[in-house]
Amino acid sequence: MRRGKSAFGTGSSVVVEECQICENKKLESILFLGYLPPVNEMHPIGERPCEQPSFPAEILHCPKCHLVQLGLVVDPKILFPPGYPYTSSTTRILRENFAELYRECRTIVDIGPNDLVVDIGSNDGNLLSNFKDNHRVLGITPEEIGKIAIERSIPTVIDYFRKEVVEKIKKKHGKAKIITATNVFAHIEKPNEIVELILDLLSEDGVFISESHYLMKLIETLQYDTIYHEHLRYYSLSSLKYLLEKHGLEIIHAKEIPTHGGSIRVYAARKGNYRARDSIKAILEKEKREILDRERLLEFKKKVVISKLELYDLLVDIKKQGKRIYGIGAPSRASTLINYVGIDDGIMDFVLEIKGSHKVGKYMPGTVIPVVDEAKLFEDQPEYAMLLSWHIADELAPKLRQKGFEGGFIVPLPKPRII
Ligand SMILES: [Zn+2]
Repeated sequence: MRRGKSAFGTGSSVVVEECQICENKKLESILFLGYLPPVNEMHPIGERPCEQPSFPAEILHCPKCHLVQLGLVVDPKILFPPGYPYTSSTTRILRENFAELYRECRTIVDIGPNDLVVDIGSNDGNLLSNFKDNHRVLGITPEEIGKIAIERSIPTVIDYFRKEVVEKIKKKHGKAKIITATNVFAHIEKPNEIVELILDLLSEDGVFISESHYLMKLIETLQYDTIYHEHLRYYSLSSLKYLLEKHGLEIIHAKEIPTHGGSIRVYAARKGNYRARDSIKAILEKEKREILDRERLLEFKKKVVISKLELYDLLVDIKKQGKRIYGIGAPSRASTLINYVGIDDGIMDFVLEIKGSHKVGKYMPGTVIPVVDEAKLFEDQPEYAMLLSWHIADELAPKLRQKGFEGGFIVPLPKPRII
């Protein structure tokens, strides 16, 4: 296999010169969201602004395998530092999703108590907590947060998923019957090498289950805010199929799931080992009908630009009336929205996070908008609250209303509006 330049350990970034899946050099530029700061670079409130890095966010399309991908790979040591603040167990929708994944996967794969289940990017052990009572489990995650999983009796290797780690795991635990990679399979550079490593760790009758943000959903609901440097690739089922088949894997089941504003869960095994379900055909046919060519993607770009301007328009009126806007939630995607649209501390006074969040007491990336405890929303009662996790607006808005917030809600995407 050809080995292009890797960003890992460079302390910097590498420009994508060829398709990350099929190595095609003729990539089409679709959308440029500007230079964005790393989403986890958050400075303490009160610190004077100092030099900080920012990286170009350009979206490229490969006309050969139809992968949509970022034009720059940033060293994971910058993006996923040991102090990486994200914990997946705090999100209800994710907890429910992983419980459902466990139920579903037992109807597809026959897993016994001695079978090993390995989760790549296991974070705080949220997914494996569903498996741990009935099977052998092992998490791999580069963040210190893996220690929380260990406290929850989920054995966890705190490291990046790489060859040396796979060798050690095979020696100590043997091969895995199930390998999961949820919301991480699009985050690691060199997908071909990752699939080879997964194959190396997977038993002959093993199944690889991935969950990734779904490109068709991203386009459909204009989720340009999920474009940031952690997300190197935006998969359709067709591009995933291309990647997996290149390595002798066959997709045996696929379905759309609601996490992260619309994801796709894909089961794959060595070719011929399992019966492929009808679910796959339906999704592939739908993707074929909605063919993602350059024209359709440029149409997406146009909509992104209009949406940005409409949001700005809406904010102009509010600010002219001297009213306050607080942001609700500081998910990674909020950083792209705020930086791309150009929202600063003059427009948004505060961003609120739940008590105990690592983000409280810091500035939003690339700005001096302070992130403070949610309680401030109810004390100050600003005229407006912008839902930065707008993809779960239906869940959030009633909750905040119930807790006593009296102002209006701004939903920034896909169509900026006040509810
Ligand atoms: Zn390609």
